[in-house]
Amino acid sequence: MLVDSHCHLDFPELQADLAGVLSRMRDNGVSHALTISTTLETFPAVRAVAHGHPNVWCSAGVHPDEQRDGREATFDELLAMGSDARVVAIGETGLDYYRVEGDTEWQRDRFRTHIRAARSLGKPLVIHTRNAAEDTLRVMREEGAGEVGGVMHCFTETWEVAQGAMDQGFHISFSGIVTFKNAKDLKEVAKRVPLERMLVETDSPYLAPVPHRGKPNQPAFVKHVAEEIAALRGIPFDEVARATTDNFFRLFRHARPA
Ligand SMILES: [Zn+2]
Ligand SMILES: [Zn+2]
Repeated sequence: MLVDSHCHLDFPELQADLAGVLSRMRDNGVSHALTISTTLETFPAVRAVAHGHPNVWCSAGVHPDEQRDGREATFDELLAMGSDARVVAIGETGLDYYRVEGDTEWQRDRFRTHIRAARSLGKPLVIHTRNAAEDTLRVMREEGAGEVGGVMHCFTETWEVAQGAMDQGFHISFSGIVTFKNAKDLKEVAKRVPLERMLVETDSPYLAPVPHRGKPNQPAFVKHVAEEIAALRGIPFDEVARATTDNFFRLFRHARPA
């Protein structure tokens, strides 16, 4: 049994054949998934997937890069979205300086609002960070993100950043990137993160793992991520599957396995 801790089932590539996507999950031993919100506009579609399928939960939040909504989600809106029974996390939120030019204060403000909403709801955070690790860890500390904890998703940072997040009680989630041949440093991090702090994800429809690299990704492929981590650590696949599944349900405690 495996859980895909981060996918985007409302994105057109997956939504177009959702029944097929979910049945391939089952066929590959992926029992549950967490589908992740990225905009205010698309949140109802994300929530609908979670309400329609007992083995899928969702998050509530606006991606750090997203400007499609044309305005910011307020604290009260995030509270209302996040209080839905199928919402088990707040995010994805965080900081991403890779695609944003100029002033980034609005991203940090948005991130702070998400952390405050998560604390108010008592639900954990799904955090995205790119080219912004230092600021991400600092804002987490300043806002007391450790009170609710959560996960650094699609982790591609250094061991020091992983440690900084784990020191605040956070989990580290590995995606298909860990299967890429050129991801040597990340493979080393995946060997060192304690099993009890680790999650696996696809971030599908993006970032398909080897041997599907370059093709559309789907939650079923999370098994390749777990296989790679097992191989790197020289432990049985089942041990990685069991640990990451246990971690998922311990962290996202509002998710009750069906
Ligand atoms: Zn992300
Ligand atoms: Zn994502």
